[in-house]
Amino acid sequence: LDAERAAGSGAALELRGLRRTFGATTALDGLDLTVEPGELVALLGPSGCGKTTALRVLAGFERPDSGAVLVDGEDITRVPAHRRDTGMVFQSYSLFPNLDARGNVAFGLRMRKVASAERRARAEELLALVGLPDHGTHYPHQLSGGQQQRVALARALAVRPRLLLLDEPLSALDAKVRLTLREEIRRLQLELGITTVFVTHDQEEALSMADRVAVMRGGRLEQCAAPAELYARPATAFVAEFVGAMNRIPGHVGGSGEVEVLGTRLPVEGPHTDAGEVDVLIRPEGLEVAADDGGTARVVGTTFLGATTRLSIRLADGTAVKADMATHAAAELPSGTLVTVAPHARPVLVDRRAAT
Ligand code: ATP
Repeated sequence: LDAERAAGSGAALELRGLRRTFGATTALDGLDLTVEPGELVALLGPSGCGKTTALRVLAGFERPDSGAVLVDGEDITRVPAHRRDTGMVFQSYSLFPNLDARGNVAFGLRMRKVASAERRARAEELLALVGLPDHGTHYPHQLSGGQQQRVALARALAVRPRLLLLDEPLSALDAKVRLTLREEIRRLQLELGITTVFVTHDQEEALSMADRVAVMRGGRLEQCAAPAELYARPATAFVAEFVGAMNRIPGHVGGSGEVEVLGTRLPVEGPHTDAGEVDVLIRPEGLEVAADDGGTARVVGTTFLGATTRLSIRLADGTAVKADMATHAAAELPSGTLVTVAPHARPVLVDRRAAT
C-alpha cells in the first residue's frame, strides 16, 4: 500500500467558484481552492461558513449550483458520490454496528468485488496500519471512540482513494485521544502521500496538522497559507483575529504610510490604508511591558499559561490589551502594577476603527 502511494498517484484537487444555496442561505459563495498532490489542507472557519458543505460537494453528496470540482484536472462535478475515488471519515463514528472491525474495513472492497481472501488480508493490513492489529473481530460497541475512528480511517483508506476527506473526525473524542490521533492521522497521511482535505473548527488542530490552512468566511476563501505564514502574515483583519489571540489598539495612520500606536511609529503591512484613525492589530507576544511608576497603563489580571503568562492590561484610554511574557518576568508585574506598553518594532496590520 505504501509503495503504491509513494509512487505518486495522489490527486491534485481544484475547486472553482463553487456556489451552493439552500433557500435563502448561501452556504458557498464562489469558493476557490487548489490542493497540491499529497497535501493536507484544513478548512477552518466559524460555524456556518460552509466548511461541511464544501466537503460534501467534494464527496459528491451535494451538487453545487455552479462552479466545478476537478481532480487531477478531470472535471468530476457531475460524477455521483459512489463513483468518485474518495474516502471519507465523519465526526460521528458511523461504523456499521452489525459488522466487526474487519468487516467494516473490508466493506468498500466487497462493494468493489474484491475476492474474499484478499479483502481479509487488506483489512488486516489496514487495521495494523491504524494501530489495531488485534481488533479485527471486535464490533463497534466493543471499541472506544478513538478506536472506532481508527477503524473508520482504515475503512476510508482501504479502497485506496485518490482523495481523503475528513469531516471533524476528532471533535467527538476526549482531549488526550484527540492529540494522539492528530499525530497518527498526519503520520499516516504523509506516509501514504494521500491528498487530504480536513474540516475542523479547532484552529489548533488545523495549525498543527495541515500543510496549509484554508480560512473560510461566508462561503468564500479568505486566505489559504501555511500555518506559520497565516499566523505571521494574515492577509486580512478577519484572519488575523480568527487565528490566534489578537489585540486591537487605537492608532493613527499618517501621511507617510506609517502608523502611530502606543507612542511608536511602525510600518504598515497588508492592504493599503488611508490616513486617519485606525485599529492596529498586534499579537499578545508583540507587546513589550515594563514596570513604570509613572506609567499610564495598569496590569489588571494575569493568566498562567505555563512557560508564558498572559497579562491583562488596561491602557490609559481604557483599551483592554493582552500581553504575553515569560512567566519568570511576569512574576515581577502582579495585578495593580503601573506599566508602560510598547509594540515590538515589526510591521503591523491595521483595520478600520471598530465601532465602540
Ligand atoms: P459548522 O462548523 O457549524 O459545522 P460549517 O462551516 O460546516 O458550520 P455548513 O454546515 O457548510 O457550515 O453550513 C453553511 C450554511 O448553510 C449554514 O448557514 C447552514 O445552516 C446552511 N446549510 C447547510 N446545509 C443545509 C441544508 N441541507 N439545508 C439548509 N441549510 C443548510
